[in-house]
Amino acid sequence: MESQLPTADLLGFESLLAAHEREKLHDVRDFLGKEVSPYAVEWWNRAEFPSGILPKLASLNLSTPVQQGYSHLFSGLVIAELTRADTSIATFFMVHHDLFVEALHTFGSEEQKARLLQDAMDLRITGAFALTEPLHGSDVAGGMATTATRDGDSWVLNGAKRWIGNGTFCDYMLLWARDTATGAVRGFILDASLPGVTRTAIDNKIALRTVQNADITLTDVRVPEADRFAGIESFNDTRQLLLGSRILVGWQAVGQQLAAFDVARQYAVERHQFGRPIAGFQLVQDQLVTMMGNTTASLAVMARIAQLQEDGASDMVQAAFAKSFTTARMRETVALGRGILGGNGIVTDYAMAKIFADAEAVYTYEGSYEINSLIVGRALTGISAFA
Ligand SMILES: Cc1cc2nc3c(=O)[nH]c(=O)nc-3n(C[C@H](O)[C@H](O)[C@H](O)COP(=O)(O)OP(=O)(O)OC[C@H]3O[C@@H](n4cnc5c(N)ncnc54)[C@H](O)[C@@H]3O)c2cc1C
Repeated sequence: MESQLPTADLLGFESLLAAHEREKLHDVRDFLGKEVSPYAVEWWNRAEFPSGILPKLASLNLSTPVQQGYSHLFSGLVIAELTRADTSIATFFMVHHDLFVEALHTFGSEEQKARLLQDAMDLRITGAFALTEPLHGSDVAGGMATTATRDGDSWVLNGAKRWIGNGTFCDYMLLWARDTATGAVRGFILDASLPGVTRTAIDNKIALRTVQNADITLTDVRVPEADRFAGIESFNDTRQLLLGSRILVGWQAVGQQLAAFDVARQYAVERHQFGRPIAGFQLVQDQLVTMMGNTTASLAVMARIAQLQEDGASDMVQAAFAKSFTTARMRETVALGRGILGGNGIVTDYAMAKIFADAEAVYTYEGSYEINSLIVGRALTGISAFA
């Protein structure tokens, strides 16, 4: 019944999927409708991560879909669909699978894969991605202050990380630190239970409250050489990983807009003022059309990016454009949706307030809107405005 409702995917991008992918996407949608959407606001209000969801998410068998032979378009639409149901659950999923597990696939040694990969894919162990620091966010590539010092068969890590998603409960983190001998950035599979690691939840967030972000401190943490990603020689080696995850955040911006449209449209046809549904007012219709237009434009950009990925032709400038363009459209879309709900748009009981607030995190993480826009600006002008 629900699938017959008008949707913001007016041009039907989903129909570009292969039949088996479409069927799988519908299974995912059904699953999310039963297991995530009905509870998402409650989790968000309590700022608690529902760990009971892990075996259920694992049963979808959707860890790193492209590694399993699915298309990039399918992989993106899965993230959009997860986000449409709940941005926090989608973010958990992406940090674990598309950063931690993907890094194991790409950079892991045979021994590391044999030890960790299957358990990580099946969510028996969970991972995080620890890059940002308290004093270095946008400039972390050049400014990273966390250090790694080689000492015999191990490394000694010192420093601090901030905002690390899944950081309070994860078993492992892909942690980045600067080699004190060479200055190069190294990647480690950090066992989060090692002595010297402390993790403190970041409380009082106004977005993605269900995601457990943490401040991490590292004091003389000794990590065996066997837990270093030997394939990572410098920060540049992370580009492919970050390219993929930045593109998926563009898909999150699509999911946010699909969710905002779902909620606003439904509310507009049900809410009566001046004796008729507010959807009958021309201004409200125009707002819904603008929301749909933003979503469709974002979907079109992302679908083209997926084609480029399929051809092995996507690059960082395109990913930066996709992230900045779709998140700017998203910010307008969720604000329009919030307005359509009037006062009810500022209480989480109506779902829109959560969508509106979560957009702020999507706008800022994985390279802020401004930094991604400046990456495109640099490509357009040949002049860097930020480095
Ligand atoms: C909910 C959430 C989850 C996150 N999860 C993770 C995670 O799992 N792992 C992880 O490593 N990190 C994570 N992050 C961190 C995120 O990637 C950073 O917040 C982001 O890169 C921005 O860094 P910052 O917050 O330090 O802001 P800053 O870099 O201090 O920037 C502050 C403002 O200044 C602007 N600015 C900075 N430099 C320039 C410039 N040269 N020109 C113009 N404007 C500029 C920025 O765009 C921004 O508006 C998360 C963040 C959030 C909010």
